[in-house]
Amino acid sequence: MDFLERWLQRRRDTGNYRRLFPLERFANGQIRKADAAGDSAILDFSSNDYLALSIHPDLIGAARNALNLYGTGAGAARLMSGDLQLYHSLEEVTAKFKNQEAALLFGSGYMANIGVIPALVGRGDIIFSDRLNHASIYDGCRLSGAKLIRFHHNDLDHLEKCLKEERGQAKALIIVESLYSMDGDRCPLAGIAQLKDRYGCLLMVDEAHATGIFGRHGGGIIQEDGLESEVDVTMGTFGKALGSYGAYIAGSRTLKKYLINRARSFIYSTGLPPSAVAASLAAINLIKKEPELSQQLLENSAYFKKCLQEAGLPGDPGPSQIVPMMVGDSHQAVKIAEEFRKKNILVTAVRPPTVPEGTARLRFSVTLHQSRQNLANAAELLVKTSKDLSVSISF
Ligand SMILES: *Cc1c(COP(=O)(O)O)cnc(C)c1O
Repeated sequence: MDFLERWLQRRRDTGNYRRLFPLERFANGQIRKADAAGDSAILDFSSNDYLALSIHPDLIGAARNALNLYGTGAGAARLMSGDLQLYHSLEEVTAKFKNQEAALLFGSGYMANIGVIPALVGRGDIIFSDRLNHASIYDGCRLSGAKLIRFHHNDLDHLEKCLKEERGQAKALIIVESLYSMDGDRCPLAGIAQLKDRYGCLLMVDEAHATGIFGRHGGGIIQEDGLESEVDVTMGTFGKALGSYGAYIAGSRTLKKYLINRARSFIYSTGLPPSAVAASLAAINLIKKEPELSQQLLENSAYFKKCLQEAGLPGDPGPSQIVPMMVGDSHQAVKIAEEFRKKNILVTAVRPPTVPEGTARLRFSVTLHQSRQNLANAAELLVKTSKDLSVSISF
């Protein structure tokens, strides 16, 4: 077993070693280190709980109610005896939310992606995937056995070149994210949809970071762009802006029936806990009722970016609540993250293999857990720390 330690040492040498930091995260919004003595409130810039819904009384109440009514677990996969009526309620609400005919729940976004992709394409088929797609998409692609072509990030010309050269006669699937999790930029969805039509491909869009924030009533970027009918497979999670856990695939009724019969991560896994499903239902209802939540988030994000720009940070700050600060070198990104940690501010140093070599970055995610004052202070600290450590950063 010596290879384990040797492998870990190589990770340490390149600055890409990862470790866990246990926290206490309370329902009143406070966070602190699990081993902290006394009061040491932590400010979190690395969570995806964008709308702070994980601590919203509506969600907590709905989850508690479901616990009292149904207990803690589904007890079986849905095709066994675990098919609770509550799942069907959430699927109906989700289909409406996404403006699609039907939706199917999965245990998580990771499970949705590794289940749906191999169900749709296989050996002999071909996938065109944006180079910066999430790891779960790549794992789904590999599991499928289809030929994988990675096109340059958000580059329609390159995608078309790949399609011309590689499309062939077999089934072809284009996969993109509507909002990229590590870069915070949006995909040129209308252009992608045109290419999908021109080259006769299926189109799958992962809305993990857009769901709940963009679009009318938080329905996502596909909805904001009015392209629901162009997207064959929509995926999103309940674990990010929706403050709960689990994921969905939305699309046609036939797609749903097909996945129930074909997607292995759906078939062979226990149904979601009823409390999580009830919280997801409450989240969608809340977002529809209070569109000012996502509006506030986007305004706060704009404010944070303005603070950084006014402090002289170069580059394009991007269109979303995800604000990456490019550092380049992994060791330097970690150094800045450590300085922040000393001040009880959590920000993730995102390093290879999550992002390409030489593009290590600090990923700030703005959430409604932060006040404007928190945002201004963090921007100031970032500029000061990078100067003190002589590290140049940009958007
Ligand atoms: C987080 C994420 C997933 C995985 O979702 P989970 O519910 O956390 O498993 C999938 N795709 C993208 C783009 C993500 O950011």
